[in-house]
Amino acid sequence: MSHIIHRNLRRAPPLAVSAAGLTVRDNQGRSYLDASGGAAVSSLGHAHPDVLAAMHAQIDRNAYAHTAFFSCDAAEELATRLANDAPGDLDHVYLVSGGSEAMETALKLARQYCVEAGQPKRSLFIARRQSYHGNTLGALAIGGNEWRRRPFEPLLIQVPRVAPCYEYRDRAEGQSTEDYTAALLAELEAAILQQGPENLIGFVAETVVGATAGALPPTPGYFRGVRRLCDQYGLLLILDEVMCGMGRTGTLYAFEQEGVLPDLVVLGKGLGAGYQPIGAVLAREHVVRRLHEGSGAFQHGHTYMGHPVAAAAALAVQKVIQRDCLLGAVTVRGAAFRRQLREAFGNHPHVGDIRGRGMLLALELVRDRDSKQPFDPACQLHAAVKEQAMTRGLMVYPMGGTIDGRRGDHILLAPPFIATEVE
Ligand code: PLP
Repeated sequence: MSHIIHRNLRRAPPLAVSAAGLTVRDNQGRSYLDASGGAAVSSLGHAHPDVLAAMHAQIDRNAYAHTAFFSCDAAEELATRLANDAPGDLDHVYLVSGGSEAMETALKLARQYCVEAGQPKRSLFIARRQSYHGNTLGALAIGGNEWRRRPFEPLLIQVPRVAPCYEYRDRAEGQSTEDYTAALLAELEAAILQQGPENLIGFVAETVVGATAGALPPTPGYFRGVRRLCDQYGLLLILDEVMCGMGRTGTLYAFEQEGVLPDLVVLGKGLGAGYQPIGAVLAREHVVRRLHEGSGAFQHGHTYMGHPVAAAAALAVQKVIQRDCLLGAVTVRGAAFRRQLREAFGNHPHVGDIRGRGMLLALELVRDRDSKQPFDPACQLHAAVKEQAMTRGLMVYPMGGTIDGRRGDHILLAPPFIATEVE
């Protein structure tokens, strides 16, 4: 019997005992092809020798020193690299232990920014209905997954939400993409005016929506419109790139393909590629300057922030991505993978849409292709797909659920960047 409180209390998962490249092995001798990088985490696959060597070297030198006393070379080098590689003046980095912690950090940094600007009334975030930003209380409150929020609702801050950019389901027949995008932006502006811009801290969104809606890229011009509204009404733009960042869509950050510069960027998953728990917030110069010239400190902090071994692992991951030109590989192999998916499933009666960017791809599953009618929640399709895939030695990341009153199932595919066309 396992003493771990597993995700499924009625059924413990298989026990992984080793992993290398795209293969994970369990204690029964079965092997699994990792076509989802876990949950879009393992961008370099498993047991990459350069990352392991960097971690070993760091452990031997300095495994831990608390940030209330010391900084460390690995964290400094990682932050410098992230600042140098990020566009614009995203020059400041706060290192934490994962995506949810990074989202909490961004929310608090944004709030303190408003307080220090003499605008303490600003206390609300606007977010989107189909979104996931993490499972800690602040991040959960921002996210759009009702099922995840429901038991904890009394503990959560209130968050007004607007529609996500979900062209496959929401663009009306005969409506152009431009008109659909304009309608989304009009909805956001109406929400800003309804709440009162003087009460708002910022707008939070995943640049490419990951788990809740299945690799949903924005329509052209959507984020440029969002940026314009944020500037017009004095809101910070906070982009969650925990899943879509760090090269997953073919550029280091997905927002680079949108022609916008957010004020804060939230990172996790691919930053450490699963080798160590690490997340980060990138902040623009004006955000940090305000705290620097104000109280002089960000009222936040965690025991494991800026962890030397986590920073060394993330640094090694980022060096490998650059050295091996993996961003280009993501674009090329991602396009090839998408073609293969179209060939295999383009005419499947239960695949409604095949979409995504780079190596963040998804199949949306429907009962009926013409009406786009989803499957009945009672059939627990996503759980069945995952189980059948695992039985056949394949890791994919299916999701389903009722989000904002709508039912949907999809299978997320996020292979390691090193995956070959054959794999
Ligand atoms: N934000 C997004 C977009 C995510 O996909 C996730 C995790 O799936 C998170 C935040 C939370 O990250 P973590 O699970 O590392 O806390």
